Amino acid sequence: MNIHEYQAKELLKSYGVPVPAGAVAFSYAQAANVAEDLGGERWVVKAQIHAGGRGKAGGVKLAGSVTEVRQFADQMLGSRLVTHQTGPDGSLVQRVLVEQARDIAAEYYLGFVIDRGSQRITVIASSEGGMDIEEVNKTHPECVFQETVDPAIGLRDFQCRKVASAIGLRGKLMPQAVKIMKAIYRCIRDKDALLAEINPLAVVDKDQLIALDAKISFDDNALYRQHQINGMRDFDEEDPKEVEASGHGLNYIALDGSIGCIVNGAGLAMATMDAITLHGGRPANFLDVGGGASPEKVTNACRIVLQDPSVKAILVNIFAGINRCDWIARGLIQAMESLHIKAPMVVRLAGTNVEEGRELLDSSGLSFITAQNLDDAAGKAVAVVKG
Ligand code: ADP
Ligand code: MG
Repeated sequence: MNIHEYQAKELLKSYGVPVPAGAVAFSYAQAANVAEDLGGERWVVKAQIHAGGRGKAGGVKLAGSVTEVRQFADQMLGSRLVTHQTGPDGSLVQRVLVEQARDIAAEYYLGFVIDRGSQRITVIASSEGGMDIEEVNKTHPECVFQETVDPAIGLRDFQCRKVASAIGLRGKLMPQAVKIMKAIYRCIRDKDALLAEINPLAVVDKDQLIALDAKISFDDNALYRQHQINGMRDFDEEDPKEVEASGHGLNYIALDGSIGCIVNGAGLAMATMDAITLHGGRPANFLDVGGGASPEKVTNACRIVLQDPSVKAILVNIFAGINRCDWIARGLIQAMESLHIKAPMVVRLAGTNVEEGRELLDSSGLSFITAQNLDDAAGKAVAVVKG
């Protein structure tokens, strides 16, 4: 789960990371009020969407008067901001952050990620801040430094000093960098975050380090114990189908092909998508109904999968262990009838109560395309899509 920049900044501030004074606004009038309350002469108006690259796309504007703050907020709110991370349709801006503009002397990159190889939190830092770190890593790999943290002893001061000195932070900046790194590390550990990125970490007022941007992503599987983080969730930034699916205890993942997949279990989902691809097709999405799926759950699964207009056929692939094929079949029949499904539905059932399940489908009088095994099912689904 991702949160907005202003939320990440509030969180990091509570851990002792310096951030510019500012507040979120949902309307241009509120944005102007925030600027007046903050005082000063220059403000930055920043579109709050769950994507980076806003600066280059016009989503970060420097305002020299409260009138300008109001104008920029008015332009941004309700518009779709297209950045290199949003895709061509962009993201709808519904909140802006208004904060003090600071005079930047230098910009650095500071990131914390979980490195899958070492299975450890790794600090990534660069003297080339404000830019895309992936790009810097390609063009100037010598400017990117990494330090892996041993989870048993945590991030040590000497490691922070090593990272800070590698990117050229010296003198008064050094102890500040150490404090900031340790604060972010504590935040990540406490809040079950997967990634935290400060880009840029800037030097302002000659010798003050401050986080001018912040991005934090959290582990969805830990949200049940992270109530504060859960409360920051912005459903408008998520795929409505994924939100609806999670409400029904289903896992939905959107992809870009034409075959909707209803399966049980993530492993079977992968195998199903491989089989579709092998037959020359592409999955539009996959929906994992999990174990012990009731007929109602299966009906909901069909409805969610069909909300994607690019779905031309549905492939149901169930290998029932805890599940029961007769329940799955009942759910599919219910869905076919109540949702008036026009798209062809290829069904492969195996495992618990498979005979009852097949019998129900055969005697339903509905036009299910039944398949004997995964290969057969994938072949049939691709064939119907290709007409
Ligand atoms: P993004 O990464 O989405 O482009 P940032 O928050 O990093 O957005 O903003 C882009 C650039 O705008 C920063 O690299 C920085 O130079 C400038 N900037 C952002 N916030 C401020 C601020 N409060 N004061 C001055 N400049 C800022
Ligand atoms: Mg940034």
